[in-house]
Amino acid sequence: MQKIALEEHFMAPGFGQYEKAIAEGMTSGTFEQFNKGLEDLDELRLAVMDEHGIDRCVLSQTSPGLQRETDGKLAVGRAIEANDFLAAAVARHPQRFAGFAHLALQDVEAATAELDRCVNKLGFKGAMINGHTNGSYLDEAQYLPFWQHVASLDVPIYIHPADHFDRPHMYKDHPELSGPVWGWGVETGAHALRLIFSGLFDRLPNLKIILGHMGEMLPFMLWRIDSRAVIVKLPVALKKEPSQYIRDNFFVTTSGVCDPAPLQCAIDALGDDNVLFSIDYPYESTAIAADFINNAPVSETTRAKICHENARRVLKL
Ligand code: ZN
Repeated sequence: MQKIALEEHFMAPGFGQYEKAIAEGMTSGTFEQFNKGLEDLDELRLAVMDEHGIDRCVLSQTSPGLQRETDGKLAVGRAIEANDFLAAAVARHPQRFAGFAHLALQDVEAATAELDRCVNKLGFKGAMINGHTNGSYLDEAQYLPFWQHVASLDVPIYIHPADHFDRPHMYKDHPELSGPVWGWGVETGAHALRLIFSGLFDRLPNLKIILGHMGEMLPFMLWRIDSRAVIVKLPVALKKEPSQYIRDNFFVTTSGVCDPAPLQCAIDALGDDNVLFSIDYPYESTAIAADFINNAPVSETTRAKICHENARRVLKL
């Protein structure tokens, strides 16, 4: 079965400084191991893809990258450098790689222009944004021109986890809970819900958002979100139930969740046209991810959609 994977990371030169907080929370040697995978865009990566039948990877700058740069002007310049670096890697292996843009949302106008350059000049398939940009979320009013341009380009935006801006008190004495074990899912699922409850998808109904990690827990929660949204004050009146935006505007990938029950939940909640295979290389095992999707208890029609057909359609590959 052909496979296209779309949450596959690299690290542009000089971007290691943004990884310090994440690296500090890991067991010794773990991040060094990840770094080897992040820094290679040729032999090592292609060998792993070949071994496990991955036809194509859509590559993205690893989280948090420039979403954590406090110098906005510097961030704008470094985004261009990172995207040019990625474009060179895609040009070396055009049949095996594709790209998601890395954007400095510190400057909305510059980020919009850079996305346009990445899609129209470099051939990238959309962008991956690593959560909030120094505490600023994508539903805020200043981002509307960005979203309008995203809608006109008709490319997906992948929202990837990152650390909370300020660690919530509920994680006191438990830093292990604030990262990939739990907190990133809460952070990213909430970011997606902010977009929905801001009314963004009523303004721009054709936006496409991708979430990793089997939808950051949202597929499991649709009924409750709808039922409780009725009894709380909302910032704006919505045209549809919240879950309907998740079905209409969201795609989820299998990155980092190799478990049949949540896969089935995602398929039941969103439909098998909206679930896409991914690995989360190099943080997750390509062998385990490929074996999981090869043997998941779904029909061959659904497996083909998840493994490559949906990616071809959504990313226009
Ligand atoms: Zn990832």
